[in-house]
Amino acid sequence: MGKGPDSLVREEVRALTAYHVAPAEGMVKLDAMENPYRLPPELAAEMGERLAQVAVNRYPDPSGERLKRRIRETMRIDASLEILLGNGSDEILQLLSLVLAKPGSTVLSLEPSFVVYRLAAIAAGMRYVGLALREDFTLDAEALLAAIARERPALTWIAYPNNPTGNLFPREAILAAVRASTGVVAVDEAYYAFSGGASLLDEVGRHPNLVLVRTVSKLGLAGLRVGVGIASREWIHELEKLRMPYNVNSLSAAAADLLLSHREVFERQTGAIVAERARLEAALDAMPRVRRFPSAANFVLARVPDGPRAFEALRERGILVRTFHGSHLLLAHCLRLTVGTPDENTRMLEALATALG
Ligand code: PMP
Repeated sequence: MGKGPDSLVREEVRALTAYHVAPAEGMVKLDAMENPYRLPPELAAEMGERLAQVAVNRYPDPSGERLKRRIRETMRIDASLEILLGNGSDEILQLLSLVLAKPGSTVLSLEPSFVVYRLAAIAAGMRYVGLALREDFTLDAEALLAAIARERPALTWIAYPNNPTGNLFPREAILAAVRASTGVVAVDEAYYAFSGGASLLDEVGRHPNLVLVRTVSKLGLAGLRVGVGIASREWIHELEKLRMPYNVNSLSAAAADLLLSHREVFERQTGAIVAERARLEAALDAMPRVRRFPSAANFVLARVPDGPRAFEALRERGILVRTFHGSHLLLAHCLRLTVGTPDENTRMLEALATALG
């Protein structure tokens, strides 16, 4: 019997592939749903001054109260709800899985959706079940209710809007799943800033099994790694037990506290992204043999005749997008195009038009 990972690591972990991030140096980076805009120089300078005052010899404030207050105010979270801070919302997904991982418990996710739902389930030792969306990525609400009745998931994930498809499922279908489920339904609103206000935040207090997830990443602060869980006091109380102490570092907490107080900066930037999304959609619609899917996020999913070839052609021209061909049957020949600056989008569209001949 060996002493290496081949004999010691859990089989389901051995079968995983690590979350892949493509090298992007020098590329027009349209692969990771980042906000393409930097901070205004005055605000960046103010952040530098603020960070210089942080006592990095000390551990961070363990409760994160100050940042929570700022987030509560910025995201308009009702006083009756509690907040959990994560090192990115990825960590919130992991904590939710861990806290619900009774032996033999199941996680249900729609597919295609965010791959970390499955990763977090497997890490927590849970059974994972994927339920396919329809061919046009809309939700079959009856199939979801049937899956909930059949699998009795301890945790059901719904990304609202969904990644990588970009669409919003009907609010009523999500609420029906919440009512029908004996487990938690977690609604992941990572792309809330682009959804035109679509949110289930106002429903969280009405359902004992509804948990909401948000992040500051897509807003323009992906480098800070600050994610947010929003739920009743009872749920946050349990989740806090598995959160590692000091999971949000003091520099990130101080920067997020300052930057979120400048809401106007991010509203301006997300407004520009939403306007560009419309231009991108129109341009894709005008391309023959391209099928563009509706988006309420900061990216657009499009099917082209030969996805891998188009991806390579874009890469050769210095433009990095995300290819999903081969990851799920429904995503054959699909590219996910993050909305960049007007100039980046124009370059991407021109390169794509050339690639498609
Ligand atoms: N949820 C969804 C649906 C996402 O697409 C992402 C990022 N790709 C995340 C959560 C994680 O975001 P972060 O950890 O940066 O908060």
